[in-house]
Amino acid sequence: MPLSPDQIAEIEEQRSNPQQTLRVVAPGMEAHLYHAKPVLDHGFVRVIDYMGDDAAICQAARVSYGKGTKSVQNDEGLIRYLMRHWHSTPFEMCEIKLHVKLPVFVARQWIRHRTANVNEYSARYSILDREFYIPAPEHVNAQSVVNNQGRGGVLEGAEAARVLEILKSDSARAYDNYEAMISQDGQEGLARELARMNLPANIYTQWYWKVDLHNLFHFLRLRADAHAQYEIRIYAEELCKIVADWVPFAYKAFDDYRLGAVSLSAQMVDVTRRMLKGETVTQETSGLSAREWREFMEIVEG
Ligand SMILES: Cc1cc2nc3c(=O)[nH]c(=O)nc-3n(C[C@H](O)[C@H](O)[C@H](O)COP(=O)(O)OP(=O)(O)OC[C@H]3O[C@@H](n4cnc5c(N)ncnc54)[C@H](O)[C@@H]3O)c2cc1C
Repeated sequence: MPLSPDQIAEIEEQRSNPQQTLRVVAPGMEAHLYHAKPVLDHGFVRVIDYMGDDAAICQAARVSYGKGTKSVQNDEGLIRYLMRHWHSTPFEMCEIKLHVKLPVFVARQWIRHRTANVNEYSARYSILDREFYIPAPEHVNAQSVVNNQGRGGVLEGAEAARVLEILKSDSARAYDNYEAMISQDGQEGLARELARMNLPANIYTQWYWKVDLHNLFHFLRLRADAHAQYEIRIYAEELCKIVADWVPFAYKAFDDYRLGAVSLSAQMVDVTRRMLKGETVTQETSGLSAREWREFMEIVEG
């Protein structure tokens, strides 16, 4: 249960108090505002605020005085053109502010995206909750034998139970010791900023994360991708749904020209042309390394 009844009541209170504004609102995003979308066992993402919509991207691209809208088709065509040709600054005119609750090891991957503004929950000031990410059984996998940076098949039976038991008992023991160290019950108690150092990386943290749409797309391109670790990908996938409701034209263009697109090297383009002319090209005659050839074949064969 990621939110307490008090927190849910606070969100409902915020949602029941609409304000009139002259600013642009995106109806699809208004429906998401403040709601927490559960992710993993204790995490969530929720939209705190946003700026702009599809029309705002066009307005900036045309540097116009009014809404900038010529027609809906025109707007969609312009957005698709901008996305296709990497004309990125109009997308930076839209912004989103999120509240995210996530395990620390996921936060370490997320924070690598430097083009956002972040403020994290202070574990120097506050006591962390007893909340640890324990993967669902279908996400407890063996090490991949083909990809050093990935996971293989799902662990079954006794092996899965053994691993889950270690994760649970280590988390519980570390938290018990954390509590014991900060306790002021008959002792001075260790400072929170020091006691936290024995907590494992599956404990949850929280932050506010604000980013513009261009950089959010960059984040989603990398983290909603099949190569990203499941535990961050699931957050990215939740964000994709929110963005699709917020800026439907921009999201569709992103889905077509980034998420669903592939990139070919000059040599790969050359091989493709030779193949289209009917030549039988092999890895040996392609000029591609074995790995490049494998990746190229994955693209060609789907
Ligand atoms: C599947 C996957 C595996 C990964 N594995 C590893 C790993 O093993 N080890 C590891 O350390 N990281 C790893 N990363 C992290 C990765 O290398 C990037 O740090 C991360 O994805 C953030 O990307 P970014 O720098 O493009 O994003 P952002 O920080 O949001 O930056 C966006 C763009 O802004 C520009 N930019 C921002 N800041 C600077 C700067 N200071 N100098 C120059 N240009 C800047 C760059 O053009 C950058 O692409 C992995 C990422 C993925 C998706």
